[in-house]
Amino acid sequence: MDGRDRPGQDGAVEARVKLSPRLHVTELFFRPTLNGDAENRIMTTRVAHCACRRLAAEAQGEPLIVSACHCTECQRRTGSPFGLGAWYAKDKVRIAGETKTFIRPVEDRTVINHFCPTCGGTVLWEASKREGLIAIAIGMFGDPAFPPPARSIYESHRHPWIEFQGAMEHLA
Ligand SMILES: [Zn+2]
Ligand SMILES: [Zn+2]
Repeated sequence: MDGRDRPGQDGAVEARVKLSPRLHVTELFFRPTLNGDAENRIMTTRVAHCACRRLAAEAQGEPLIVSACHCTECQRRTGSPFGLGAWYAKDKVRIAGETKTFIRPVEDRTVINHFCPTCGGTVLWEASKREGLIAIAIGMFGDPAFPPPARSIYESHRHPWIEFQGAMEHLA
């Protein structure tokens, strides 16, 4: 154990969300191109990173679901009127760089945000009700071609001027 993954006040929660293996961030940014690799021809791989590039996440394949969330916690996490998360199975996501966690209780569950200690960007988060899954903030991909949200939740907190195009599930 190298200190940075040392459990916090709540060892049980920390143990459950331990993310490994960690790579050095250069392994994601500067790894050799996979063009021609048989697996990569059929599998989209995208890299998300925070503003200072010290924390990155590589996601293999398409997200299971992309959700827009208008809740006030996502508003405060992002500083924007809504958050956007792409959910993946944990084993499809590799993380590089150091993270700090912010654990937030939500009603009967917890949300664990993983953010960059240098620039503060929350690149990933987990929800205790979504065991085995992890979300990546889609803005961290910087990719306008990223799949759009299929679900819009906590719409009771939606800023009224925000409207998404296309078919999607709407939840209050
Ligand atoms: Zn950063
Ligand atoms: Zn939210």
